Amino acid sequence: MTPDLPPALADWREAPRVRAANHRPVRHDGRYILCWLQQALRARDNPVIDAAVRLGNALRLPVLVYHGVREDYPYASDRLHRFILGAGRDLGAGCAARGLAFAGHVDRAERREPGLVHRLGAAAAAIVAEDQPTFVARWQAERVAARSDAPVYLVEAACLVPPAVIGDGIRGRSGFLRRHEPERERWSGVADEPSEVAPYAGELPFVADRLDDADLDALVARLSIDHSLPASDSHAPGRAAALIRLARLTTEVLPGYASARNDATRADGASGLSPYLHFGVLGPREVMAAVDASRAGAQHKRKFADELLGWREWFHYQARGLARPEHYDRVADWARHSLSDHAGDPRPELEPLAAMLCGETRDETWNACQRQFLVHGWMHNNLRMYWGKRILAMTPDPQTAWATACYLNDRLSLDGRDPSTYGNIAAMFGGAPSDRDRPVYGRVATRGDGSTRHRDGGAAWLAAAAALPTPAVSVPDALPGDRYLAG
Ligand SMILES: Cc1cc2nc3c(=O)[nH]c(=O)nc-3n(C[C@H](O)[C@H](O)[C@H](O)COP(=O)(O)OP(=O)(O)OC[C@H]3O[C@@H](n4cnc5c(N)ncnc54)[C@H](O)[C@@H]3O)c2cc1C
Repeated sequence: MTPDLPPALADWREAPRVRAANHRPVRHDGRYILCWLQQALRARDNPVIDAAVRLGNALRLPVLVYHGVREDYPYASDRLHRFILGAGRDLGAGCAARGLAFAGHVDRAERREPGLVHRLGAAAAAIVAEDQPTFVARWQAERVAARSDAPVYLVEAACLVPPAVIGDGIRGRSGFLRRHEPERERWSGVADEPSEVAPYAGELPFVADRLDDADLDALVARLSIDHSLPASDSHAPGRAAALIRLARLTTEVLPGYASARNDATRADGASGLSPYLHFGVLGPREVMAAVDASRAGAQHKRKFADELLGWREWFHYQARGLARPEHYDRVADWARHSLSDHAGDPRPELEPLAAMLCGETRDETWNACQRQFLVHGWMHNNLRMYWGKRILAMTPDPQTAWATACYLNDRLSLDGRDPSTYGNIAAMFGGAPSDRDRPVYGRVATRGDGSTRHRDGGAAWLAAAAALPTPAVSVPDALPGDRYLAG
């Protein structure tokens, strides 16, 4: 437990989620506790809000929840903005229902508000924000903490078991599971901290956007973002859509999950919850509470817990231990060496970036995968494994393969830019070494498409998926560089 925490946070049962990101003392002339949310976009079951409420109750100060979205984060598009704004709208309503003031901001030409978190922080006794290990949320929080005169407390809100209780330095998933599994029960259960202070009704340094009655489609259409990538046709934004999927999980998906989960041709094989988890519309505690309460068989619940807790939380844990979780250098040493030994191999399956982006390569199965990303903003897990491995053969060298996989995943997929993105791509490029040494791949295992193609109706399903009409997405001249680390 960190000594830098005030008693209200240090004595909290969720204290292992919290760390002080600077060494400023609480400001007793502050007017509120600023609760700044970037990605945990839910009003309930949210440890970031709960930490702010605890601190507010102790200092007899109200909490002001703030969420803003800018036009200039990497891959800002209709797809991502519309999903975020739908979540932001429900977040505002949910905060009001909890008796908390909420201020939202959609940055745009006629409403530029530079440095808004700093300006809001100037009147705060303390800032409580999220502790995210990847993408812009990480360096934005660090930057605010470095510049702020107020103390900044960062709260982990993505995992059921706080990574801090696992301990540092675990290198393999089995060692991680040995520590993680016994902790799960202790961290389960949803109980929101009630606010004991009237909602903040004082001045703000800007005019907050009211999303509750805004036409979000029209708002998004006016922004300076990538309009060539439309909203997902399968994952509607907002809390109601997330809860419908959660209900469907417990009634339709979970009863057959252990066997159906690997079948990409089935619409009810998997939950489709990853976009809602990535943007924090749902948290793992709430999902697991619904799973535990369902009547599905124990083997299905176990399999689901292995995915949601055993894999997802492993990748979150891993990302926290890495200085650069988004980089190729995280791929296992043996795999990078083996791939590098084969860097000069002939590559007859090379594809231009435009063909890959648009799902128009010579590989029908790969196109079927990519078109799920293009149209739905989501791809079935089984297809992602094939998709990820094949990129090594389609690109000139392993570093370009890594950059291409991250670019396609991050730009197109609603759940991209996540610890699971880079952790899974690293596992596709590494994982368990193969006994064989093949051209291009070296000892990195390859993967065929038989698990989909050889199912009943699988070949027809792949042909139809590869022909799915796609949006005319803009094609860049080159892959983006290290923009995630540009803080
Ligand atoms: C190359 C590659 C890239 C991937 N990129 C992402 C990504 O950007 N974001 C992302 O969330 N997942 C990613 N995954 C993991 C996995 O494919 C998705 O989480 C899953 O397909 C989401 O669908 P679902 O919600 O229906 O999963 P379900 O089968 O219903 O699983 C429930 C939840 O468990 C978690 N989960 C399941 N499988 C995994 C896994 N392998 N790793 C981590 N968590 C898992 C997800 O949160 C998921 O929502 C990737 C996998 C591969 C092989």
